[in-house]
Amino acid sequence: MSAEATNPAVSPAPAPPAAHRRKGRPRIDLRRLGRAALLGPATRDRLPDAISHVAEAHRAHHPDADLEPLRRAYVLAESSHRGQMRKSGEPYITHPLAVTLILAELGAETTTLTASLLHDTVEDTDVTLDQVREQFGEEVRYLVDGVTKLEKVDYGAAAESETFRKMLVATGNDVRVMSIKLADRLHNMRTLGVMRPEKQERIAKVTRDVLIPLAERLGVQALKTELEDLVFAILHPEEYARTRELIADNAARESDPLAEIAEEVRGVLREAGIQAEVHIRPRHFVSLHRVSRKRGQLRGTDFGRLLVLVGEDADCYAVLGELHTCLTPVVSEFKDFIAVPKFNLYQSLHTAVARGDGQVAEVLIRTHQMHKVAEAGVVALGNPYAAPAEDQTDGERTDGDGERVDPTRPGWLSRLLDWQQAAPDADMFWSTLREDLAQDREITVFRPDGGTLGLPEGATCVDAAYAQYGEDAHACIGARVNGRLATLSTVLKDGDTVQLLMGQDPASEPSREWLEHAHTPAARIAIQRWLATHPSSAADGPDALDTERKDGTPAPRPAHDEPAAPSDTANAVVVAGRPEANVRLAGCCTPVPPDEVTGFAVRGGVVTVHRVECAAVTRMKGLGRGEIAVHWGDTTEFRVTLVAESFQRPHLLADLTEAIALEGVAIVSATVEPPTQQRVRHTYTVQLPDAALLPDLMRAMRNVAGVYDVARPQHQAAAR
Ligand code: MN
Repeated sequence: MSAEATNPAVSPAPAPPAAHRRKGRPRIDLRRLGRAALLGPATRDRLPDAISHVAEAHRAHHPDADLEPLRRAYVLAESSHRGQMRKSGEPYITHPLAVTLILAELGAETTTLTASLLHDTVEDTDVTLDQVREQFGEEVRYLVDGVTKLEKVDYGAAAESETFRKMLVATGNDVRVMSIKLADRLHNMRTLGVMRPEKQERIAKVTRDVLIPLAERLGVQALKTELEDLVFAILHPEEYARTRELIADNAARESDPLAEIAEEVRGVLREAGIQAEVHIRPRHFVSLHRVSRKRGQLRGTDFGRLLVLVGEDADCYAVLGELHTCLTPVVSEFKDFIAVPKFNLYQSLHTAVARGDGQVAEVLIRTHQMHKVAEAGVVALGNPYAAPAEDQTDGERTDGDGERVDPTRPGWLSRLLDWQQAAPDADMFWSTLREDLAQDREITVFRPDGGTLGLPEGATCVDAAYAQYGEDAHACIGARVNGRLATLSTVLKDGDTVQLLMGQDPASEPSREWLEHAHTPAARIAIQRWLATHPSSAADGPDALDTERKDGTPAPRPAHDEPAAPSDTANAVVVAGRPEANVRLAGCCTPVPPDEVTGFAVRGGVVTVHRVECAAVTRMKGLGRGEIAVHWGDTTEFRVTLVAESFQRPHLLADLTEAIALEGVAIVSATVEPPTQQRVRHTYTVQLPDAALLPDLMRAMRNVAGVYDVARPQHQAAAR
C-alpha cells in the first residue's frame, strides 16, 4: 500500500467551477496516431524533442503543473539508459519518453509521468530504488517499484485469476502502476514489427488475454482500442487487411451519409438552442470488423458514429429529446449509461437515428468530462489516494462531510482498491470481482436467420423482441427458444437461439405485463410509450391495469409466463369480498397451499395470485400497483411446476417420472434441457391431488440418484 495513501476525509475542496470543468481540451489523438502508425510508415526515423511534447501534453490537461520533476526524471533516465539500444536500433530513452507521452495525452498527473520516465531504470540500469526515493520522493519510488515488480509477473500458463492476483499484488492495487504498464505495452506493441513473427504472436496473445481486459476494466478506452487493432493486425493479418481495404474504399466514396446526418443533427440542436459539438468518430478496425461480421453488408453509416459533446449532464437528455423528436429514433438501440454507468466508469447515452432514406446512424451523447473519462478511464482520475485539495481530478466533488465523492468513479473501483487488503484469499477476491463485473456482462443470442442479438445478462424474450423489431415487437405473440415454445418472460442464456413469433394483426397491442419482463431500457421505453398513447388499454387506475392482451387469442400463445391454472383449481384461491372473481395462479412462482399469497388485479377483471416472496410482487409494488387480499379456498387439488437439477446419466428421465408416479401425482408436462457440462435440468408440471403432498413429492424426487436439487422455479428473480 502506498505510503501516500491519504485519508480522503481531510481538507475538502470546493467543486471546481463548472466553467473550468467544461473548458475545451485538445482531443485525445492516440486513436489517430495509432491508426497512422498502422497505416503509414512509422515516424521513428526522427527523434522528436519528446520532453517538450510531454510537457505540452501535460500542460494541456494540468495548466499549473510543475514541470521540474519531469525535467529531472528525464535527465536521470536519459543518462542512465545512455548506450542502451532498442531492438529497432533507437536509443533506449525513446521508449520511456513514448510511454510518458501516451500517459500525458490521456491526462495523467505529474507523479505518474515522473515514474513513467523512470519505469525501466531500476530494472535495466544502475539506478536504485533508494536513489529514486531520495531524488523524487516516496510516491515515485513506490510507483517505479510497482512497475518493476509487474515486469516480473509471468503471464504464461497461469489461470486468469492467478495472473490478475499477481498483478494486483505487484501493483499494490495502485491503478497508476497499471496504467503505466498499459502504456508501456502499447508502445511495445506499436514497435513490435522488429521482432520475429513467433515472438510477435506470443506477445500479441498475452496482450489480448491480459492487457486488453485490464484496459477494459480500467476504462482506458483509447489504449484498449489501439491495442485491439495492433493485436488484430498480428493475429488475423488477412481479416485485418480486408478491413483496411473496406475503410479505404469507403473513404474514397463521394458522399458520406454520416457527415450529412451530422450536419442535420447540428441543425436540429442549433434550432433547439442547445450548445453542443457534433463529431464523427471513425470506428476502430476491430469494431468495424465486428459490425461487418454481425451485419454481413456494411452500410455507409457503419464506418463511424456521431459523438455529441455537451456541457452538463442534463444537456445529454435534452439532446436525446431533440434527436428523438426531430429524427426517427431506432428505439432498440437506446441505452442509458449515465443513469446506470458501466462497471468501468463509462458514461454516455447511446441511441440511433434514421433519416428519411432509411440510413441509420449511431449516436453517442456525453459531457466533455464523461468523454475524458470514457477515453482515459482511471488515468483521468489522477491519484486515487490523493486528498481532493490537490485538485488532480476535474470531476471531483466532496459531499457535506468532506468525503470524496467522484461521480465518475462508481463503487467497483473503490471496492477493487479496498478488497485486496480485506479478502482473505485470492479466490475470494477474484470471485467477488467477477460477480461485480458480471452485472454488466452481455450475452449473445442467435436468430434463426443466422444473425445475432447482443443483450444484457438477464434479458428475456421480450427484450429480444424489441431489440430485433423495435416497436413492431408489439405484435409479438410468442417465442421459440432453442426450438421449443417458450414464454416471452423466459430469461435468455448466452448462445440460445431465439425465434420470435410475430402476429399479423396490425393493431397489435403489447401487454402491460411485459414491463415486468423487460430488462432493457429499449423494451421498457417502447412499451411505456405505447401504453402512454393508449390510455384506454391501460384501463383505469392501478387496480385495473394489466394483461391478457388480445383477449380471446387462441392457444399456441405461450406469450405470458402465467399459464392459466385450469378452472377446477383456480377457485382454490378466493379474493376477499369477491368470491366470483376470476383468479389465475402466477406461473412465475406457482403458488400452492399453504404458501402465503397476494393478488394483483389485471385487465379484464382477472386477479393473478403470487407467492408473497415472488420477485414479481416486489416489482409490481414498486410500480405502485395495489395489492388485493386473497386466501386459499377449500379445493386441495393443484398444479405445480418443479425443476429438478441433476447430473446426466442414463435412465434419469425414466427414474424421475417413476418416482413422481409412485407418489400418486400426474405429470401434465415435462421438458428436458440439453445437458451442459454433464448437468441436466428437467422441468415438470404436475397435478397434485392434494397440495399437502408437495413436500413428500419433492423429497422423493431428490432421492433419485443423480438429482442434486428440486425446487419450484424462481426464474423471475433472475430476470432483474
Ligand atoms: Mn518499458
